[in-house]
Amino acid sequence: MDAISIVGGGIAGLALAASLDPSRFQVTVFEKRPELPAVGNALGMWPNAQRALARLGVLEEARAVSPMIGSGSVRNAAGEPWITVDGGEMFGISRVDLLRLLDSAVPGTVRRVTSQVQALPAGGGLVVGADGVHSLVRREAWGSGTEARLTPYLALRGTLPSLVSPDAVGEYWGRGDLFGMAASNSGMFWYASYRSGLGPYDIDVASALKQARERYAGHAPAIRQVLAAATPGACLVQRIWTTPYLSSFVRGRTVLIGDAAHAMLPTLGRGACESLVDALTLADLLNTLPEDQALRAYDRQRRLRTRTLSLASSALGRVALAEGAQPFRDRLLNLARRRNAPAAVGRG
Ligand SMILES: Cc1cc2nc3c(=O)[nH]c(=O)nc-3n(C[C@H](O)[C@H](O)[C@H](O)COP(=O)(O)OP(=O)(O)OC[C@H]3O[C@@H](n4cnc5c(N)ncnc54)[C@H](O)[C@@H]3O)c2cc1C
Repeated sequence: MDAISIVGGGIAGLALAASLDPSRFQVTVFEKRPELPAVGNALGMWPNAQRALARLGVLEEARAVSPMIGSGSVRNAAGEPWITVDGGEMFGISRVDLLRLLDSAVPGTVRRVTSQVQALPAGGGLVVGADGVHSLVRREAWGSGTEARLTPYLALRGTLPSLVSPDAVGEYWGRGDLFGMAASNSGMFWYASYRSGLGPYDIDVASALKQARERYAGHAPAIRQVLAAATPGACLVQRIWTTPYLSSFVRGRTVLIGDAAHAMLPTLGRGACESLVDALTLADLLNTLPEDQALRAYDRQRRLRTRTLSLASSALGRVALAEGAQPFRDRLLNLARRRNAPAAVGRG
């Protein structure tokens, strides 16, 4: 049997481990986190990710534990809706639930090693870097010029036991900041993003919450209510990083999937979805083709597609987080609201 070492047992790594043919491969997953995380925000599952979850046999359970996204509005900082976005069949799954379901789909034949990998696994088999935006595999095999890039933005996310107001759901775009809220099965998820000097590593959640309360003090009452009720124990904070464009996701017998290959701004909510698709695409190819052909086909199928989404996420980020152009953006969206009210825009 051929050996495959997967570095990183997050969304991409677990999905790959769950879909590789156990009769062909001896798979080992290296994951530094000893247990599943306890706090996680909602990840919007687009149709392509739902098809991947169906293939893994966990779609029904994923739906059962996740609220539908439904419709939500893009609003100005004061909370007035500009456009209404229909989420269609999309649902928002908690990262904790997604990881738990993917973990349960991994066959018992997969070897699990709990340790932080410090160098590329030796042994001669295929090495898969599924180790996220700060990927050691990418650094070791592609070189230090491919280190993750720090954006100026902070992402602060949290949960609350109840929804502050069903009418307030949606995303609020201010001057250089955005704030989102959505229903969850156990209350609500919320997130905030803006330029911040905190970090870049080990950011104190209480300091980030204090900064956010000051930042959003003049925003809609629903935002202020959420931030007043938020507690550090039910929040996650990080600076947002992205990866540089790689001219190939494959180098010899090393291949990258998920954020290790293409971490993008979270504005389109596609990173986890594309990580699932990467994993299933790679597994299908490895299960059916000789390794070198499978890797070439994977690179061809996934690199330009994820590049396009990365660029689209950055473009949307420039609009949502506009600073100098914010008055112009707001005038355009006010016009769109007046022309189209009450418009509903499908999300595909
Ligand atoms: C604020 C924010 C909001 C987002 N919202 C959405 C959304 O709505 N929808 C969506 O689709 N995506 C969203 N994303 C993107 C999504 O979170 C990522 O794309 C996704 O988590 C990538 O999965 P991954 O498995 O590639 O990497 P990760 O989730 O980062 O997993 C990597 C794993 O590797 C492990 N690891 C790392 N280094 C090592 C090592 N050296 N040794 C052993 N283990 C290691 C880590 O512990 C981790 O478990 C969002 C991201 C952010 C920041």
